[in-house]
Amino acid sequence: MEAEQLKTELKKIALLLPLGLLVGFAVGLTMVVLHLVEQGDFHYGLWRTVIGQATHTLNGGVFVACNATLLLMILGALQVMLGRPFAPGLRTAIGVLLFFPLYLTMVWLFTYLTVSGQSVETHKLPALIRENAEFTIYLDRYFWSRLDLLAVAKTFANRFWWMVAGLLMASIFGVWFNHLVAALGRLARRRPKTSAPAPLGKWAARLLIPLSVVVIALIVLNMTNRALALTGRDLRRNVILISLDTLRADRLGCYGCPTAKTPFLDLLAKNGVVFEEAISNSSWTLPGHGAMLTGVQPTTLGLFKVTDRLDNHALTIAEVMREHGFDTGAIASYILLDKVYGFHQGFDYFDYEDLQPAATIVDKAIGFIEPRLAKNFFLFLHMYDTHWPYEPDEATAKEFWPGQIVAPLRQLIATTDYAQFAIKVIRGEDMLNDFCLAMYDGEIAQVDRELGRLFKFLYEKQAIDNTVLIVTSDHGEEFRDHGYFGHGLTLYDEVLHVPLIMRFPMMLPEGVRVQGQVQTLDLFPTILGLVGIEATKYNLPGRDLLGMIHAGAADPLPMIAETSMSGDSRYALRNGQYKLVTPYELDFGANLKIDKPEEIFDLRADPRERTNLAETHPKMAEILRREMAAQMEAIRRSSATGKTFSRSEQLSAQEIERLRSLGYL
Ligand SMILES: [Zn+2]
Repeated sequence: MEAEQLKTELKKIALLLPLGLLVGFAVGLTMVVLHLVEQGDFHYGLWRTVIGQATHTLNGGVFVACNATLLLMILGALQVMLGRPFAPGLRTAIGVLLFFPLYLTMVWLFTYLTVSGQSVETHKLPALIRENAEFTIYLDRYFWSRLDLLAVAKTFANRFWWMVAGLLMASIFGVWFNHLVAALGRLARRRPKTSAPAPLGKWAARLLIPLSVVVIALIVLNMTNRALALTGRDLRRNVILISLDTLRADRLGCYGCPTAKTPFLDLLAKNGVVFEEAISNSSWTLPGHGAMLTGVQPTTLGLFKVTDRLDNHALTIAEVMREHGFDTGAIASYILLDKVYGFHQGFDYFDYEDLQPAATIVDKAIGFIEPRLAKNFFLFLHMYDTHWPYEPDEATAKEFWPGQIVAPLRQLIATTDYAQFAIKVIRGEDMLNDFCLAMYDGEIAQVDRELGRLFKFLYEKQAIDNTVLIVTSDHGEEFRDHGYFGHGLTLYDEVLHVPLIMRFPMMLPEGVRVQGQVQTLDLFPTILGLVGIEATKYNLPGRDLLGMIHAGAADPLPMIAETSMSGDSRYALRNGQYKLVTPYELDFGANLKIDKPEEIFDLRADPRERTNLAETHPKMAEILRREMAAQMEAIRRSSATGKTFSRSEQLSAQEIERLRSLGYL
C-alpha cells in the first residue's frame, strides 16, 4: 500500500512539472507572437526573435521547476523527519516566503557555475562584482537576459504594479506548493488517506487542481516576463555603430593578440558575434567609411582622393534609419568624416571636432543617448585615437613600453611630420617600429577603457540588451609587415582585415565566431535586418549577415578592396581562398619608391601573404583576373543604374594643408 501510494505521489510530481512547463512555454510563445503582431513588428526576422524570446521563456520555466523540486525535497524531508505534516496555512506561507529568496539563490548558483573560465568562489562574488566591471557586465548578461525572473524581481522594487503582480505570483505559487507538500505530508504519516483506492474521477480532479495552479502560475510568470521584455523600452531597438579608425583586427585580445589589454571588447566578443574575416573595402579612411555608411563600393561613390566627397545623392544608412523613425546621431573626430565630405547626411545630430579623444566622444554619446532612452536611435561613433599619431597617456605608454627611453620616442612621434616619420620607420631600426606598435596597442587599450564606460552606462540604464552594438574599423595599419608603415598605400591584409563584433541578444546568439569572408559593405543591410527594416528596396550590393551568423559561417563571395590614396587606383580581389592585387608604383620622395608587380596569395596556406604566386601559377592568375573583371563590371553596372556620384565642392586651402600634414596628400 505504501509503495503504491509513493508511486502515485511521485507520478503526480513527475507529471506536474513537465506539463506545467510545457503549457507555460506554449502560452509564453503565443504571447510573444501575438504581441509582436500587435506591435506591427512582424517582419522577416520575426522567427529569430521568437526563438530568442522562447528560449528565455523556457529558461524561466526551468528555473521555476528547479526551485519547486528543491523546495519539495526540503519540506518533504522535514515532514518525514518530524513524522507529521505541516498545516496547510504554514505550507502556503513557506511557499510564498521561499519563492523569491530561493529563486535568487538559484540564480547566484547558476551564475557562479557558468562564469566560464573563471574560478570564482561564492563568498568572493560581491567583492568581484564591485571591483570588476567586466564581471558585472558578464553578470548583467545572465541576470537580465537569461534569467528573466530576476529581472522581474528587480523591477518589483521600482514599480508598484509589478510588486502587486509579484505578490500574486508568489501566492499562486504558495497555493500550488501547498498541494504538493500535502501530498508528501500524507506519505510522512505513512498511511493512505482512504482505505479504498480513490475512484478515477477523483484522482483526475486531484491532479487537475494543482496542475491548473501550476499552469496559471507559469502563465502569469510568462506574461510578466514577456511584458517586461516586450513592452515599453524593451521593445525598442537602438543601434550604436562604432568605428575605431585604423584598428587592425589582430591587435585585439578577442582576435588572438596575447599582449592586448582589451577586456571590454573581448567581453563584447564573448557575449556576441565575432567575424573572423571581416574585410574593409578600402585601406584608408574616406573610402572605408564611405563603404561602411552607404553600403556601396568606393569606386561607385567616386571616393578616390582626399579631394573627393560623398555626393549629396548618396544614400546613407543614417538617412534610411531616420526615414524609419530613428533619432540619428553621429560623433566624428576627423575632417574626412565632416560635413565638408558629406558624411553628415541623414544625421539629425552631427558633432564633429577635429581629433576629439574617445573619452570626449563617450561623454557626448552618453549625452546623446540619455534623453533618447525612450526612443529608437541610431548612433554612429567615430574614434580617431588609434590613428597616427599614437600618443597614449604616460602611464599607458609605460605599461606597453617598460624601457627607459619612452620620453624621447614619444617626443619624436609628437613633433615629427607624418611623411618624414613614415620614412624613418620604413628605413629605420626595428626598435622604432616596435615602439610605434606598442604605442598603438596603448591607444587601443585606452579606447577599450572608454568603450567599457559606454557599455556600463548602457547596462545601468537597462539599454544594453535592446541595443545593436557593432564595433568595427575602416581599415588596419601596417607596421612593416610588408616593409611599409601606415595605411592607404597597399592592400595587404594588415590594412584590410578589421575587427567586426556585434552584440544584440534579442536576435543574435552569444559566443559565436563566424568563419569566412565578409565585407564592410555588408554592414548596411545587416543593420537594417537587425532592426526590422526591409533592405531589398535599396538595392544594396552587400549581404544581410544574419543567416551566416546563425550558421556560424559565411559563404566566401568574392569582393573588391581598393585604394587610390597615393597614385593610381589599385584593386584587390579577395575570394575567401585567394587574393589578387593589381600592380602599382609609389613614389614617397627621398629616394623611396615602391614598384609592385601583380600579386597573388593563397590566403589559406599563406595568411601573411609572403609568397607571390602570380609567376608560378599563371592559370590561377588568369582565373582570378577574370573573376576580378567580372566584379569590376558589376561595380560599373551598379554605377550606371542611377548610382553615379559626381564629385562636387572642393576643399579649402587650409583643409588641404591639414591633410598634407597627415600624409594624405
Ligand atoms: Zn581611417
